[in-house]
Amino acid sequence: MDPILRYAQSKQSAAIALIRQFVECESPSDDAAAVNRFASLLAESVKDIAKVRPHFAASRGRNLRCEFLLPGAVKKGQILALGHSDTVWPLGTLSVMPCRRHEGRLWGPGVFDMKGGLALFIMAMRALRDLNIPVARKVILQVNSDEEIGSLSSRALTEEIAKRSAAVLVLEPAGPSGRVKTSRKGVGDYHVVVRGVAAHAGLDYEKGASAITEMARQVERIAGFTRLARGITVSPGVIAGGTRSNVVAAECSLDVDVRIPRASDADFLARQFAALRPFDKRCRLEISGGMNRPPMERTAGVAVLFEKARGLATDLGVELDECAVGGGSDGNFTAALGVPTLDGLGAVGEGAHAANESIFIDRLPDRTALLAKLVAGL
Ligand SMILES: [Zn+2]
Repeated sequence: MDPILRYAQSKQSAAIALIRQFVECESPSDDAAAVNRFASLLAESVKDIAKVRPHFAASRGRNLRCEFLLPGAVKKGQILALGHSDTVWPLGTLSVMPCRRHEGRLWGPGVFDMKGGLALFIMAMRALRDLNIPVARKVILQVNSDEEIGSLSSRALTEEIAKRSAAVLVLEPAGPSGRVKTSRKGVGDYHVVVRGVAAHAGLDYEKGASAITEMARQVERIAGFTRLARGITVSPGVIAGGTRSNVVAAECSLDVDVRIPRASDADFLARQFAALRPFDKRCRLEISGGMNRPPMERTAGVAVLFEKARGLATDLGVELDECAVGGGSDGNFTAALGVPTLDGLGAVGEGAHAANESIFIDRLPDRTALLAKLVAGL
């Protein structure tokens, strides 16, 4: 058996204990104090094997960079592992969704997305150290504090370090049956406001121009920008407008989620939104927003990295497949810079952002071993 796999199997209970510790330290994106508590816990858990440097952001929790102290001569270049400390779950979720082991899985808020992935990487680095397996490059784990809310505070930090890295390993949840993610759609938000003319719905109906009626017509047009065959989706997600039923609505607003598989699709959508005109000339349209994360495209560099990982997985007796997904991650930023990026290298499980969030315990050793072999083999 592969020595790293054997090591990871022997450390199974330590891995579970670390994941449990991480899950039981709740860290919702919008609670800087909670995210910082988790960052401190993570820093503490690697202090014997890494140099940890915090990077403070204005209003958010702190981002961390951990440089691992690994055997081997460090040549030029480095490998970047990317993760995030925040979760979508509010404080107190543990009381209704406790971290528990049941039916071969570990359950709990953030266990899959992505505290399991962070713990696996740390276990992988411990394996390299304990087994004295040399690495050729410097290895940095960057843990961002605000991935679930668009990475506003961490994006520049991620891009800066990715540019200096030979490859990026993203510890986000795996796809179905452990698939890694070799392409992700780009994600954007558009915000549309209609300004109409208020009037008494009974006394002066014809003097009013309803922002709601106007928006209803615009919504259909906007949703029509979707091009399913090209993978472009445009989804009106939130709508609000009006004040009282007897007032012709003066204002209505709409938030629209957009997803694109290719960077060039951003221009297509920008043109579509810019071309919107009011049906009722008395209404005004205000349009803002655009892309937040560029797509992660399956470049030649991504394909080479995937083939490498697939070969290493085969050595572990695991068949590794790839998948393309609609959700974005910080890997979108690094791939868009042309840095070979492999995503979904974290835990195998299901239910990200959902009540059934859980990971498969029997997949912890082979995922740990794959991460260790990738780091050693790049
Ligand atoms: Zn995530």
